[in-house]
Amino acid sequence: MNAIVLLGAPGAGKGTIAASLNEQWGAIHFSTGDMLRAAIKQGAPVGRQAEAFIQRGELVPDRVIMDLVIARLDQGKPEACYLFDGFPRTGPQAVLLDAELERRRAKLDVVFLLEVSTDVIVDRLSGRRVCRSCEANYHIRNIPPRVEGRCDRCGGELFQRPDDTRETILNRLEVYRRQTEELISYYDRKGVLVRVDSNRSRDPTVADINRSLERLMSRPAEGSAER
Ligand code: AMP
Repeated sequence: MNAIVLLGAPGAGKGTIAASLNEQWGAIHFSTGDMLRAAIKQGAPVGRQAEAFIQRGELVPDRVIMDLVIARLDQGKPEACYLFDGFPRTGPQAVLLDAELERRRAKLDVVFLLEVSTDVIVDRLSGRRVCRSCEANYHIRNIPPRVEGRCDRCGGELFQRPDDTRETILNRLEVYRRQTEELISYYDRKGVLVRVDSNRSRDPTVADINRSLERLMSRPAEGSAER
């Protein structure tokens, strides 16, 4: 395996599912959202460029994302398998990913499209809480921490992301429809798109994805993703 993309609206469960897959397949979780938030926390120049866009629920310009992605891929081992979460989000980013994989003689194995209804998205994002230290994700009802307000993994403080307010959530959804949805047909045409019902809780969704990955792993190297 070389690269897996998790595609879907904000709140589709990309981060939660990536965390589970990451543990099971040893893939590197590559989240541009996490990278940007880390850069903001550190006061890095890329963080300063990105902060206002993130707060408004808009996409950070492609140029900034591309520099970030190339720098991170260049640091990694050539044989690594990446699990892309929240990247690519635009046509130019998808083209860049193709080019970067080709440059490394790597292949995009599969794109999982996490399909979810708007009601579920708004409920998930408005109830989401994130660990300030290790970025682990929780939900006040669906994935509650053992101790309220504290991370199970590291004991860090849980907080609500500033872009998880109702108004910003609706804007992020609109941005997804306008700028990211076109990637569905892009990857469908390439024969790598697999649709997954992500309205369900984490475990059955992850189980479906695992079954799909097991089928892919057991097949000869060439060929397209199974639907
Ligand atoms: P996420 O954590 O993936 O929901 O991303 C949070 C925010 O970071 C998004 O609403 C965007 O403002 C920004 N962002 C993350 N990834 C990208 C990307 N690939 N392209 C543009 N903006 C991004």
